[in-house]
Amino acid sequence: MGEVFNWQLGRKMRYPYPEHHPRWQFAFVFNINRCINCQTCTMACKSTWTFSEGQEHMWWNNVETKPFGGYPHNWDSKLLGMLEAANPKGQVWEVNDQKITPQAPYGTFKGMTVFEAAGSTPSSDGAREALGYLPDEKDWEAPNIHEETAVGKAWKGTDFGSSVQLPEHKVWYFYLARLCNHCSYPACLAECPRQAIYKRPEDGIVLIDQSRCRGYQRCVEACPYKKSIYRPSTGTSEKCIGCYPRVEGKDPLISPNGEPCETRCMSACPGKIRLQGLVEIDENGQWKEDPTNPLYYLIRERRIALPIYPQFGTEPNGFYIPPRWVPRPYLEQMFGPGVQHAIEQYSCPDRELLSVLQLFRTTRQIIFHFEITKGPKVAEIEVLMPGGGKKVQEIYNDTIVGYNKFGKEVTRITTEEPTFERDANIHVNSI
Ligand code: SF4
Ligand code: SF4
Repeated sequence: MGEVFNWQLGRKMRYPYPEHHPRWQFAFVFNINRCINCQTCTMACKSTWTFSEGQEHMWWNNVETKPFGGYPHNWDSKLLGMLEAANPKGQVWEVNDQKITPQAPYGTFKGMTVFEAAGSTPSSDGAREALGYLPDEKDWEAPNIHEETAVGKAWKGTDFGSSVQLPEHKVWYFYLARLCNHCSYPACLAECPRQAIYKRPEDGIVLIDQSRCRGYQRCVEACPYKKSIYRPSTGTSEKCIGCYPRVEGKDPLISPNGEPCETRCMSACPGKIRLQGLVEIDENGQWKEDPTNPLYYLIRERRIALPIYPQFGTEPNGFYIPPRWVPRPYLEQMFGPGVQHAIEQYSCPDRELLSVLQLFRTTRQIIFHFEITKGPKVAEIEVLMPGGGKKVQEIYNDTIVGYNKFGKEVTRITTEEPTFERDANIHVNSI
């Protein structure tokens, strides 16, 4: 039994294996505020990897409507309930803004992770490394159950308009796009009795060795995000493979010169909510400080993107810019105590942050570094802040340039979208 450091919890925690880290880690940021629930990501993944017999229920990428939706059904509320039962009223964070450090950017989690709560629920077939449950057949039906179902009551009965005003809507829902988080401490890996699951040293992508898997489904039971899925036609479990040929730069069609590219679900996103990449890990197993890497910048430097259910303890590498309109207690349960800070940053971004937010979906290649060139001030707008106050946001037409692994420029975009006036004598409107 090992003890490992989990920076998202700000403390050490129990894990069955000793601490060991890859050289680079696959990670992604999703801006929930922008998702339009088009499911293009879902279909891009499905049509690439899970279109065969026995994979009908397999959606490595899915987009569910919160709070009621979920695939498999109630995956998160069920586990949250189990953790609460294992540690009643103990699932809390200790937050002291004066003590926010890179090692504990959200404070310290005082509760139990899935590893620490293992064994709290008796199991008929032996001890467990992680608290979890096996979804039943019904849970894997209707992947988009409760789509666009809102929660809450319209204010004063008929006055629906005032129920959907910032800073928090009284009637709300949001779209949550999900895939395997290629966790730093994967519960699927911890639980596998065959040691069929491994984390790649070069990029931290978590894979299941199909030749070792015997289909015991212990990974399905243990993964708190339910992203390892059993395939009856082969008798093995399967999961997202992080489109590793693309990340390696080995897809001959899109990477003729070996340039690492984003996964299928990331690069297909028309909502421009997704930015995926690799962060470098230092010799101590921590993220190497690099504020010119867009993921490092958004997640560690600005803390605008937060891990999903960090309290589960797997150190997920999927990070989300929380939706501005959703009641804070719900968001804090899902993304931890950093929610208010993240929403404040997002509500009125400074010129540097605004530039980095432009990078989402401007190139298929993974951006390893960015550079910003300052431009003129072009506008001032009044912004409603989450606390109810107002702030003036100054907008500058800065230019951000993104570079790939080899230091080659792969994207260049200005903060102000360029507009072009067409010559009416040449381009007559034919409608
Ligand atoms: S999200 Fe689940 S399947 Fe993916 S690495 Fe984490 S524990 Fe494993
Ligand atoms: S493709 Fe993008 S915008 Fe569309 S559902 Fe997926 S994450 Fe949301």
